[in-house]
Amino acid sequence: MTLQGVDHHFDEARPEPAFSNSDEGIGWTDANCSTCVHDLAARTGNQLGGCPLVTVSLMGRRPVQWLDGPRDEHGRYSRARQYVCVEYRHEDDGPTDPQPIPDPPGQLQLLPRDDYEGVRMLLRPNPATYPAPAA
Ligand code: SF4
Repeated sequence: MTLQGVDHHFDEARPEPAFSNSDEGIGWTDANCSTCVHDLAARTGNQLGGCPLVTVSLMGRRPVQWLDGPRDEHGRYSRARQYVCVEYRHEDDGPTDPQPIPDPPGQLQLLPRDDYEGVRMLLRPNPATYPAPAA
């Protein structure tokens, strides 16, 4: 899925600040957005062409595309991996638009794709609800 405008992502964002302070925010964006194609325009001088998700975070909301990164048993996380952005694409990764596998020629499409395309919300297993594997 390609990114939409700031208003769209602001409306769907979680109504909570993404970071507790600017140092935390700069640490995360430096570790993630500094190589992402979606913020390439801002890095090359077009400040209005930056990533809308970063803009949403600066407006006090947490984009739904930012999933929790790995935590240790105490809930601690590194600044660089506080979130995992599902829209991250390395700037050397090729085209920014998704490249779906085309329907085979002469075949019918069983289900329309539109309803199934969008942001994936992956959840990590909750260790409290999953028993440890038997030894
Ligand atoms: S898509 Fe995600 S990783 Fe890429 S610039 Fe935007 S917020 Fe950063």
